[in-house]
Amino acid sequence: MQIMRAIHGRRITRNDDPAPALWPAMDDCIIIGAGPAGLTAAIYLARFHLSIRLFDSGSSRAAMIPCTHNHAGYPDGISGKDLLAAMLAQAERYGARREAARVTAIERDGPGFRVVTDQGAYGARTVLLATGVVNHRPKSLLPEVHDPALERGLLRYCPVCDGYEVTDMRVAVIGTSDHGMREALFLRGFTRDVTLIAPEAEHMLDEACARALDEAGVVRVDGPCGGWAIEGEQLALDTAAGRMRFDSIYPALGSRIRSHLAVAAGARATDEGCLEVDDHQRTSIPGLFAAGDVVKGLDQISHAMGEAGVAATTIRNLLSEQRPIRR
Ligand SMILES: Cc1cc2nc3c(=O)[nH]c(=O)nc-3n(C[C@H](O)[C@H](O)[C@H](O)COP(=O)(O)OP(=O)(O)OC[C@H]3O[C@@H](n4cnc5c(N)ncnc54)[C@H](O)[C@@H]3O)c2cc1C
Repeated sequence: MQIMRAIHGRRITRNDDPAPALWPAMDDCIIIGAGPAGLTAAIYLARFHLSIRLFDSGSSRAAMIPCTHNHAGYPDGISGKDLLAAMLAQAERYGARREAARVTAIERDGPGFRVVTDQGAYGARTVLLATGVVNHRPKSLLPEVHDPALERGLLRYCPVCDGYEVTDMRVAVIGTSDHGMREALFLRGFTRDVTLIAPEAEHMLDEACARALDEAGVVRVDGPCGGWAIEGEQLALDTAAGRMRFDSIYPALGSRIRSHLAVAAGARATDEGCLEVDDHQRTSIPGLFAAGDVVKGLDQISHAMGEAGVAATTIRNLLSEQRPIRR
């Protein structure tokens, strides 16, 4: 018995298929999201000679990176958009194709899944969710200030990524409570001049938080924040203490985890919405995998890529247990 299967234009033959009747016309894996995690998985899976689809709605957090300097292998740094383009070109070299589509549901379908998009519905034996997160922005910060400020490094979202770039600069964190405190203290490792500004009103800090900030010399200013503007080489805003200017400002307002597709399908997630996976990136639903920011862990490109490599290899091995993968 032979089954002919197409990998985006190339045809693959599997001989001696043990259970063809169990396998309707399905792809081996549907990857949802073409950020660093999804693209890494696409490269691996395509190179394993598996049939994949890669759906993406075009809002990778990596595309917001003006120039990353902590991603290994690029001594002069690389922009997030260039990195994504290079990864996509690499995936395409092995037959993968990014399809511009938003996935709206993942449903169990016999031995696999039915993935519903705004373009149609598709079957797959496995699904990898690599949908990332969306950072909450200060409400009063309009896109016409936000985007150029981000591009110029006046606004930043990731102290782990680019705290080095603000070494000895005048820095503010927009946030409060435990989360705001932790981000301010982290940035204190890069500069003495850190101000923690509450986004909406007065700070909400318990005694331990307030003491830790005082000990580290972090200035506290109440909100509300407003009147954002780029002024010269700084980003300025109004606070309860008047107008203030900083070399760089980090919103620390949390993020929306784009895990709803998996959660709606029954996958376990943390209280914040991060998908829970085992050390092979398996969610609590057999055949459904997750990698990258959508999973609890370090929100970094390197981590997203590493998780995706693990997920892709586990997917390949799972499929080969169900049916030998042979040329
Ligand atoms: C300003 C900024 C600077 C950063 N700097 C660095 C840095 O220097 N170094 C570093 O390591 N990290 C950095 N990061 C973090 C890094 O961008 C993320 O960790 C990384 O992008 C995570 O990759 P991901 O593939 O998990 O998610 P993402 O890159 O966010 O990709 C997720 C993809 O899934 C798609 N998607 C979501 N939902 C759907 C759906 N329903 N249907 C179809 N597609 C969907 C989205 O459109 C998106 O393309 C930075 C982040 C920001 C915001």
